[in-house]
Amino acid sequence: MNCPACAAPVLPGHAFCEQCGIRLEGLPPCTACGGAFEEGYCAQCGRRAPAASDHVELVLDSGSAGASDRGLRHTHNQDAMALGEAEGLQLAVVCDGVTQSPRPETASTLAAQTGVTILAEELKAGSTQESATRAACARAALAVAALATSLDDAPACTYVSAVAGPDLVTVGWVGDSRAYWLPDDGPAVLLTDDDVASAGVLTAWLGADARDAGCRALSFVPDSPGLLMVCTDGLWGYLDEPVSFRAAVPLEGTRALVEHALASGGRDNVTVVLIPVRRA
Ligand SMILES: [Zn+2]
Ligand SMILES: [Zn+2]
Repeated sequence: MNCPACAAPVLPGHAFCEQCGIRLEGLPPCTACGGAFEEGYCAQCGRRAPAASDHVELVLDSGSAGASDRGLRHTHNQDAMALGEAEGLQLAVVCDGVTQSPRPETASTLAAQTGVTILAEELKAGSTQESATRAACARAALAVAALATSLDDAPACTYVSAVAGPDLVTVGWVGDSRAYWLPDDGPAVLLTDDDVASAGVLTAWLGADARDAGCRALSFVPDSPGLLMVCTDGLWGYLDEPVSFRAAVPLEGTRALVEHALASGGRDNVTVVLIPVRRA
């Protein structure tokens, strides 16, 4: 049996596809017409069955939290996030599947998971934060490129990573997903440059058709406690002024930010991770 949404093999009896998160069975009737869902779609009106990826929240013991939502206009959540910890450092990767590419949610999910896995491996092996950041991004790029069957069938996504500790914070990125530093006192600082042309068109992404998936990286020493925020354009597109969200509990902060994006129109998938940076 294969997933009706992404064609990944699924075992009989599994409720969700492990590849794309779509719900496979045990669904209530279609909310639009009362029809039954078959193979991921309503047999009567064609509405897509709700997927586990439509709204996702993650929280770690360290307090790092993430929230991702399909938004109000898209039929799929093509964003993905992964969180982790290694060597006392907080790790996160957020990716935004390129809608114009095939299977964007497969690209973003694979890139996020590969990124955090390699960050942790590299840090445990003694790499510096910046070299771990570059190695993880390069491996994620290779993994996404390997999804392509040809240059015309090349899944693609953006990528932004965070390695955060009280002594040093490192971010790495390809494309227009962003990282911000939100010190407890003082204005928010945008850490990443969007890899886009002036028309807002992406000039850098992960994928077999990318001209150059060279990771850009930046490190800084935090001079006060604060929050590191990593997000997709579905959020920052709705944040006009320097970000002023400084929730004491990161999970509540991510919920407030997602709700802000939805209340502002929710035109895109929205994903945000907040990492507390402070001495234990
Ligand atoms: Zn699937
Ligand atoms: Zn229906």
